[in-house]
Amino acid sequence: MLIMMKLDSPREHIEKVKEKIRSLNCTPHEIPGSVKLAIGITGPAAKLSEDVFLNMDSVDEVVRVSKPYKLVSREMKRDDTIIKLNNTSIGGENLMVIAGPCSVESRQQIFDIAGELKEMGIKFLRAGAYKPRSSPYSFQGLKEKGLEYLFEVKKELGLMIVTEAKDTNALPLLSEVADIIQIGARNMQNFGLLRDIGKTSKPIMLKRGLAATVEDWLMSAEYILSNGNKEVMLCERGIRTFETYTRNTFDLSAIPVVHKRSHLPVVADPSHATGLRDKVLPMARAAIAAGADALMVEVHHDPEKALSDGPQALLPDQFEELMKQVKLIAEVIGRRMN
Ligand code: PEP
Ligand code: MN
Repeated sequence: MLIMMKLDSPREHIEKVKEKIRSLNCTPHEIPGSVKLAIGITGPAAKLSEDVFLNMDSVDEVVRVSKPYKLVSREMKRDDTIIKLNNTSIGGENLMVIAGPCSVESRQQIFDIAGELKEMGIKFLRAGAYKPRSSPYSFQGLKEKGLEYLFEVKKELGLMIVTEAKDTNALPLLSEVADIIQIGARNMQNFGLLRDIGKTSKPIMLKRGLAATVEDWLMSAEYILSNGNKEVMLCERGIRTFETYTRNTFDLSAIPVVHKRSHLPVVADPSHATGLRDKVLPMARAAIAAGADALMVEVHHDPEKALSDGPQALLPDQFEELMKQVKLIAEVIGRRMN
């Protein structure tokens, strides 16, 4: 349920509505809009009567939210969520590109690639320190050492860091390094982790699960928002289908589907979605044309020797070409590359 407050409602009236919601064992969430303030209600709201609120001061309208996800839905918040980070933002008019290797492999490796990407204008470096791999025998990441290198890169090169939290234990240390915390596909339904991450104040990138429907994915985002953290972006990274030519099947249509249902920004990851280097550029172009708010692309100096995801990593000059092409498409659809 959503309570729409009248324009310029006094704080006192807003607080009264929130108190009323709490007295009914539900939780109020203030949702600022471009024109009016709305108060979203989560908890056992289905049984609440509209009349309870309609008679209160400054209440304009009471709207039932029909979807099972509430805080992430467009019904609850009409305006796009724009996540601000330092002097830049993800969502809205901006188009952001996040790039970097799959994993931090050594100090030298991460500094080399980060330096090159920075020269190309990249502001967000991605790289995993904790790697959730399908096989226990595959490289599992440099863990704390990897975070240490990422911290050095952040300080020395001034890049913002996107890195994955595999479990709750790593969160305190990871929060000191990450500007955006990634929740990987394999953890999309790790509800304990989602709850914990919802209590942090870092922006979160929630990747779509390997076999998750859009509704499953939005429900997972709801876990994060309902625990307090409203800065969530959703990353489409391909799903399992019967097709085996590509590593996953890139669900391009999920981009406009999510944009219609949710106000959260959508990131597209053509690297994991295809698993094939030569398919990354065409799918990056398609994702931007479909309205993605950001791209996340894996780049490596020497993909043959990469410790994870080498076959899908672009070489730096291929990535440079991707940036050029994506910029052209962005302009056509009225977006600005950041
Ligand atoms: C990654 O971003 O390197 C990764 C492990 O992605 P996913 O969780 O989408 O497989
Ligand atoms: Mn990867």
